[in-house]
Amino acid sequence: MAKNGNPDDKRTILMNKAKCPVCDWEITDGGIKVKVGGKEITVCCDDCAKKAMESPAQATSK
Ligand SMILES: [Zn+2]
Repeated sequence: MAKNGNPDDKRTILMNKAKCPVCDWEITDGGIKVKVGGKEITVCCDDCAKKAMESPAQATSK
């Protein structure tokens, strides 16, 4: 039997790709850092930063 290379094994997971905890959008542009509830999180936009500050528990739970 020939060795069957599984392409899925070579998939690289980029750990520096962040997701906005507010809207779940993938942040590809660095995002905006906000401090809510003593925790620094990165969101995708100004709007989400505001939302995160309004409900920090939700934003930091993910
Ligand atoms: Zn967002």
